Amino acid sequence: MNQIRFITGFRRLLISRDNRLIKQKYPWILTTWHTPKYGYSSNMDSVNKSDTVTDHFSGVSGSAQWPDRPWSNDVDMKSTLGLGYEDEATQESTNVNAELDFENAEKAFANKSNLELLRAMLILRICSYNVFVNNALKLWKMGQGILGKRLFSSVMKATFYSQFVSGETSEDIGKTVARLSSAQIGSMLHITAEDSSGCSDKEQWYNTNADGVLECINLQTIHCDTSQQVISQIKLSSFIDTELLDKLEVVIKKNGRNFVNDSLVNYKNFAQGLDGNLQPIPELTAAENESLAAALQRINKVAQKSVDCDFVFLVDAEYYSNCSTMAMITFAMMSKFNHKKTYVWGTYQALLKETFNNLCMDGELAKKENFGFGFKLVRGAYLETEKALALKNGFQAPTNDSYEETNLSYSKCMDYAFDQIRKSPNGKYITMFATHNEKSVKRVVAMMKKEGIEKKSGKVYFGQLMGMCDHVSYSLGKAGYLIHKSVPCGSIEDVMPNMSRRAIENKSVFARLDKEKKMLSQALRKRIF
Ligand SMILES: Cc1cc2nc3c(=O)[nH]c(=O)nc-3n(C[C@H](O)[C@H](O)[C@H](O)COP(=O)(O)OP(=O)(O)OC[C@H]3O[C@@H](n4cnc5c(N)ncnc54)[C@H](O)[C@@H]3O)c2cc1C
Repeated sequence: MNQIRFITGFRRLLISRDNRLIKQKYPWILTTWHTPKYGYSSNMDSVNKSDTVTDHFSGVSGSAQWPDRPWSNDVDMKSTLGLGYEDEATQESTNVNAELDFENAEKAFANKSNLELLRAMLILRICSYNVFVNNALKLWKMGQGILGKRLFSSVMKATFYSQFVSGETSEDIGKTVARLSSAQIGSMLHITAEDSSGCSDKEQWYNTNADGVLECINLQTIHCDTSQQVISQIKLSSFIDTELLDKLEVVIKKNGRNFVNDSLVNYKNFAQGLDGNLQPIPELTAAENESLAAALQRINKVAQKSVDCDFVFLVDAEYYSNCSTMAMITFAMMSKFNHKKTYVWGTYQALLKETFNNLCMDGELAKKENFGFGFKLVRGAYLETEKALALKNGFQAPTNDSYEETNLSYSKCMDYAFDQIRKSPNGKYITMFATHNEKSVKRVVAMMKKEGIEKKSGKVYFGQLMGMCDHVSYSLGKAGYLIHKSVPCGSIEDVMPNMSRRAIENKSVFARLDKEKKMLSQALRKRIF
C-alpha cells in the first residue's frame, strides 16, 4: 500500500506569526506597512494608466496597460465593475445564465450518493456555527478524550475529513481524483503543511514537506488525466522559515517592493539561488543566508519535478507579513520556468488594499522581462488574522474595510487579467479565478464570451475547494470550462490543524453557504420522496 504520511508537527493555529516580534525588531514597518510606493491609493486611480507599453509576447504596442475604466470613481465602479455581471445586462450575461445552471439541485449533485448528500448537508450546517468553528481544535481534543483516539478518528474520517480531504493512501486519493475527473474537474493535490513555528528540527520538517509534495506530484501522474493540464499546488511556508521571510519582507518593502532594484534582494538573485548560486544577502546573518539558499534549492527541486511532468506549479498566497517576499520568490521561479510555457503561477489576494497595484506591477514586469505570467486570483483567506494582528499591534489593517471593497478589488483585478490575456495572444498570460462566489464566476464566464476566449483555451481556469460549492464546480465542469478543485491529502492528524485554521478563516464563507445547504437538502428530499 502506497501510504503517504506528512509529518507537519503541531503549529500555532490562529495567529501563526506574532507580529509583536516584527514590531520589536522592525519598528519601521509600523509607519510604512501600508504605503504602497506606486500609489494605488483609496481612489484606486493613481497607478499610471497611460504609459505606452510594448507587449513583449505579441510585439504590439499599446497606449494603456489595462482597460480604461472608470476606476477613479467608486460609484461608477459599483455599477461598471459591479458586484455582479447582471448589472451590465449584456447578451453575454443572458447566455451565461442559460449555460450555467447553479439552481438545479438534482443535476448539481447527480454523482453524489444519498449518504454523501446527507454528510455534506450536516457538515456545512455545523460549520456555519461560529462557536463550533472557533473551538474546533478544543472539541477535537475533547472528542479524543471521550471516545478515545481510534474511535474518534473513525468518526472524523467518516464525516469532516471525507468532506474536505481526499485521503492519505494512493488508493483513497485516486478514488477522489477519479470521481472529480468523471465530472470534468481536475484535482490540485497538495499537502496541508504550513508554517514551521513550533518545529524542533525545521530543516528536517521542510525536507519532509518537499518529499510530500513530490509524492503528490507522483500521485497526480498516476491518477490525474494527464491529457488535460494538471496543476500542483504548494505553500512556500512549508519549505522556508517564515521568520526569515518576514525579515526579507522588511528589506523588500524598504526598497519599495521593487523586484529589480540594485540590492541583492531582487528577483534575479533569488533566481540564481534556485540554481544554487545565491549571493549572500548583507541584511541576513550567515545562518539565515544558508537557510535561504537551502530553501531556494528545495523549492527549485519540487518546481523542477512539476515542470518535468508538464504540470503547472501553483504557489499559494499566505500572510501579509511576508507576501512580497513570497511574490518575489515566485517571480524568480517564473523567470526560470515560464519561457516555453507558463508553468509557474502565483496568487494575488483581492482582500489586500495594495493587491491591484502589485498585480499590475508584477504583470508588467514579467512582460518586460519576457516571460509568462500566471496567477490565481482569490479574495483572500486571512481576513480575521490580519485584522487581529493589526488591532493588536496598533497599525492599520492591510485588508479592505468591507466585503464590498474586496468584491470591487476582485472585479478590478479580473478586468486587468482579461486585458492582459487579450494582449497576449500566444497564451503566456493565464489566470485562475479561484472563488465560490457565483456572481464572480458568472462575470468571468460573461467576460470570456465577450472576449471570445475558448473554454479550453488554457487562458482562463476556475478553482474551488474540495467539499465546498460543488454545485458551482460541477456546473462549470459540465459546461466544459477548465475547473480544478484544491484537494488536500494527508493523515487525519496532519490535516486537522490546517482544516481548523481554514474553517476559522472561512467563517464568512460558511455563513454564505445557505444556498448550497438548501440545494443539498432539496436534492436529498427529491431522491427520498
Ligand atoms: C482553489 C482555491 C485556492 C485558494 N487559495 C488561496 C490562497 O492561496 N491564499 C488565500 O489567501 N486564499 C486562498 N483561497 C481562499 C480564498 O481566498 C477565499 O477565502 C475563499 O475562496 C472565499 O472567497 P470567495 O470568493 O470564494 O467567496 P465570498 O464569500 O464571495 O468571499 C468571502 C471573502 O470575502 C472577503 N471578505 C469577507 N468579509 C469581508 C470584510 N468584512 N472585509 C473585507 N473583505 C471581506 C474575504 O476575503 C473572504 O474570504 C483559495 C480558494 C480557492 C477556492
